[in-house]
Amino acid sequence: MNWFKKISQNSVQSEYNIGTPNINVKPLEPLVQEVINELTMKSPNLFYNISDVNIDMGGQNALGWVSNTTANTINLNMARIKSDIKSQTGVSDENSDEYKVYLKKAIASVLMHELGHVEDYDPVSGSFPGGEAAAEQFERNIAL
Ligand SMILES: [Zn+2]
Repeated sequence: MNWFKKISQNSVQSEYNIGTPNINVKPLEPLVQEVINELTMKSPNLFYNISDVNIDMGGQNALGWVSNTTANTINLNMARIKSDIKSQTGVSDENSDEYKVYLKKAIASVLMHELGHVEDYDPVSGSFPGGEAAAEQFERNIAL
């Protein structure tokens, strides 16, 4: 994982304030930033290998994904995450506190799942050898 550590250290020194999560959320989604901040307070090095979280509003069917060409980036499909909350909980008022609680939990679990893939990434082969099992195990092992 030295390849990742080099990237993280460089970006800390050049672009970001030390002590704040070193992650560029774009386009800015305040709730995602809030979840990242809360998770980082619990576990300061959790996002060590992540430089970017991209918010994708449509197209893909998955809740989130990572790619071996940009393995320090987590993509979140906010449209899919939001529609899942509405269909699974019946709560559809996006301004309600209840909805925000569900949304933050969903964002956290998708972030942890995708982070599990990133932690599993093998830069030598450019693959994710542990597959879904590795991501699911990582997601379970993190206390959200
Ligand atoms: Zn997965």
